[in-house]
Amino acid sequence: LLQLYAPLNFLGFVYREIKHSLADMEKMFKLLRQNAEVKDTPDARTLQASSAAIRFESVDFGYERNRQILRDVSFEIPAGKTLAVVGASGAGKSTLSRLLYRFYDVWQGRVTINGIDLRDMTQESLRAHIGIVPQDTVLFNDTIYYNIAYGKTGASREEVIEAARAAHIYDFIEKLPEGFDTMVGERGLKLSGGEKQRVAIARTILKNPPILIFDEATSALDSKTEKGIQAELKAISADRTTLIIAHRLSTIADADEIAVMEDGRIVERGRHLELLAQNGHYARLWALQQHEEPADHVA
Ligand code: ADP
Ligand code: MG
Repeated sequence: LLQLYAPLNFLGFVYREIKHSLADMEKMFKLLRQNAEVKDTPDARTLQASSAAIRFESVDFGYERNRQILRDVSFEIPAGKTLAVVGASGAGKSTLSRLLYRFYDVWQGRVTINGIDLRDMTQESLRAHIGIVPQDTVLFNDTIYYNIAYGKTGASREEVIEAARAAHIYDFIEKLPEGFDTMVGERGLKLSGGEKQRVAIARTILKNPPILIFDEATSALDSKTEKGIQAELKAISADRTTLIIAHRLSTIADADEIAVMEDGRIVERGRHLELLAQNGHYARLWALQQHEEPADHVA
C-alpha cells in the first residue's frame, strides 16, 4: 500500500488513467479522494438499499467542456432487472457506467438510485452498492487470495473459495504451486486477460452488491470459458439491478431490455425479438455479428 502513496505528484495522472480504464476504482478512490472532481456535499446521505432502481433522466455529459458525449440519455432499470447496452466503440457505453459510479457529475439532468440523486449521497455508500467487472482489470501486487478477498471486508476463506469456484477460477488457482498464496500483478504471476477478468468476477461475487456493472465483462475470454461464466453471471445478476455493456450480442439476448447507443444517444430500446423485428440499428448489428467467428469481436 505504501508503494501506492509514494508518487504523490503523479496521482493526478494516475487518477485520470484509472478513471479511463475503470480499473480498481474502489481502492484508488480511497487513495485519491482529495483529487476527486466530485465531492460529497456536507449533508450527503448514506445510501442503504438492498434493492436499487436506477434512473438516468435526460443526462447530458462530456469529459471536456467543449465536447459533449452523452445527449439527453434517459433510461430506467427497475430493481432486479437487467439493461444491456450495445453500440459501436466510442458510442458512450462505458461513460454510462462511469456516471453511475459517479466518477463524474452530469452536465444536465440527473442520475438517481431509488429516487435519490447520486449527488445527494456519499460516494462511499454509493460505491459500496455497486460491483463492477471492468473491461480491463488491474490486479493489486499481492496474492491472488487478497485480490479476491478484497471484495468483502472480513471474508472467510470458505467464502473466498466459493467465489473463486463460482467465477471458474478455482481449478486454475489450485494448480498453481503456491495456490491462493501466489503473488500476481505487475511483479508477480502475469495472468491472462481472461484470468484477470475471472478474478474480478470472483471479487464481485464476494462483494455481493445490489447493483452490478459488467463492462464487456467476458470480452477477454475464449468462447468456451465465456459460456461457463455467462451462466454464472446470469445467476448472480438474477435478482440484482444490472447494467451490461456488451459487444457480443448473443450474450445479452435474454436481457430485460436492450438499449442501442449511437453517438452518445440511445437510438433504440426494447427486447431482443422486438428489436430484431424493428429491423433497425440492432437488427443490423445482429446481422453483422452472425458472420463473425464466435471468438471474434471488435473493440
Ligand atoms: P464506449 O464504451 O461506447 O466505447 P466510451 O463511453 O468509453 O465509449 O467513450 C465515449 C466517448 O468519450 C469516446 O469518444 C471517448 O473517446 C470519449 N472519452 C472516454 N473517456 C474519456 C476521458 N476520460 N476523457 C475524454 N474523453 C473521453
Ligand atoms: Mg467501453
